Amino acid sequence: MDISIVVPVYNEEENLRPLFDRIVETMDGLGKSWELIFTNDGSKDNSLKLLKAFHEERPDVVKIVDFNGNFGQHTAIIAAFERASGNVVVTLDADLQNPPEEIVKLLEKIDEGYDCVGGYRKERNDTPGRRYASRLVNLMREKMTDIKMLDQGCMLRAYKKNIVDAIVKSRERSMFIPALAYTFAANPTDVEVEHSARNAGESKYSYYKLIRLNFDLITGFTLVPLQLFTLFGFAASIGSLALVIVLLYMRIFCEDNTHGVFTLFAVLFFLISLSMVGIGLIGEYVGRIYQVSQARPRYILRETVGFDKNGK
Ligand code: UDP
Ligand code: MG
Repeated sequence: MDISIVVPVYNEEENLRPLFDRIVETMDGLGKSWELIFTNDGSKDNSLKLLKAFHEERPDVVKIVDFNGNFGQHTAIIAAFERASGNVVVTLDADLQNPPEEIVKLLEKIDEGYDCVGGYRKERNDTPGRRYASRLVNLMREKMTDIKMLDQGCMLRAYKKNIVDAIVKSRERSMFIPALAYTFAANPTDVEVEHSARNAGESKYSYYKLIRLNFDLITGFTLVPLQLFTLFGFAASIGSLALVIVLLYMRIFCEDNTHGVFTLFAVLFFLISLSMVGIGLIGEYVGRIYQVSQARPRYILRETVGFDKNGK
């Protein structure tokens, strides 16, 4: 199999028909062997019914992974990755914000020898709030981790098989696929892609969900927040130690001896800040253990459609 296209679907009934038609037209035009894996991430509308109709229409390409609930976009993509048999795997959103025709651009870059190709959206068709939030989290990721990519929020991306296999083997529970792929890639690149407004329906991401997603990104790829905490503790303890010295000096050598309470406070602050360093240090270790220890199943399946006995 040459190419696997992976699409996570969560309540996208109005978008699926045009999406499917445009993907089929683009991919059939390439003259390569391909498959299209939809993960139904617990949709409550008619999405699953439509996906099954697509499978009836094109049993040669359409495969479905049906989740027993909503496990999130990245988990939906992982489940499809586990079953993808293409030498190249492409991800895109179901809401037509990523035009399927742009897949061709990504595949060209793969053919040039890159193993991980990210799309970046020059002109984003999202609300201004989303655009600013996005700029901020891109900046945070840039400063705190050594992951260099142009647009972490764009899910129109292509990966070579070995990268996908490495992602599937990673056991962390909440993952941010573009960043993980980047850490495994030997030769990543970015390519400019079009970005449309959502075709129909609403964004499935509330600000709260977005913040949580970005916590996954930060905690999954860096310990900088814990380190900042430790550094703060150090700074506070040095400051309060200085205060202790000043107050002791005044108590012993100055005539005016009314600083008793303040001396106590200074000592107290010193001890509190020392214990902050301690908590920060423990946090360092707990954070590391946390990163490797979580091993619950990522998702529960209801059924799969179109895969053979080996699950491919
Ligand atoms: N999605 C999903 N599970 C979720 C949320 C979203 O499978 O819990 C899918 C959704 O159907 C779409 C893609 O992930 O195909 C991106 O979602 P959305 O367009 O709502 O995100 P936005 O473009 O607003 O970032
Ligand atoms: Mg969208």
